[in-house]
Amino acid sequence: MEAVYIPQLVRAPEQTEQIEVNSYLPDLDTLTPVQGQVRVTHRGNYLEVAGQAEAIVTLTCDRCLQQYNHRIKVNISELIWLQKQEDDPDADLLEREVAFEDLVETLDPDGYFQPLIWLYEQLCLEMPPRQLCDVNCAGIQVNTATEAETEQPTRIDHRWASLQSLREHLQN
Ligand SMILES: [Zn+2]
Repeated sequence: MEAVYIPQLVRAPEQTEQIEVNSYLPDLDTLTPVQGQVRVTHRGNYLEVAGQAEAIVTLTCDRCLQQYNHRIKVNISELIWLQKQEDDPDADLLEREVAFEDLVETLDPDGYFQPLIWLYEQLCLEMPPRQLCDVNCAGIQVNTATEAETEQPTRIDHRWASLQSLREHLQN
């Protein structure tokens, strides 16, 4: 998928280009292709970018280490400030102070906008920081065994319990 040449975007209908996405993204390991679209509009001194996309990824559960499938979805819009690389970043800062908080990213106005790289970044941000196959996942069996061992004084091992009852039975 080609990049959007920003000066050319000005001459596009409504200064907007919409890119349909239905492909695997480099460096993003997804089970299904990423499906959606990215719309980019030239607003003079900034770009307005909106994207909706989804894909299924295979994750590894933090508790039981089993793999499971998870759907990631993005539906976001973002403003990207257009600023010459050689510009003093502090110049006109007061002038744009109000908007600057929303315009954390900048691009060269004579450069390119990379819709797939942008989408890749958005999808990465959607990856769950805590990966669980299920909210009630009990974890791996080794953990359960370790817990049982540490709790042993309060528990009776059923194998010893049956031996005990056998012995009582023989004694009676
Ligand atoms: Zn799990």
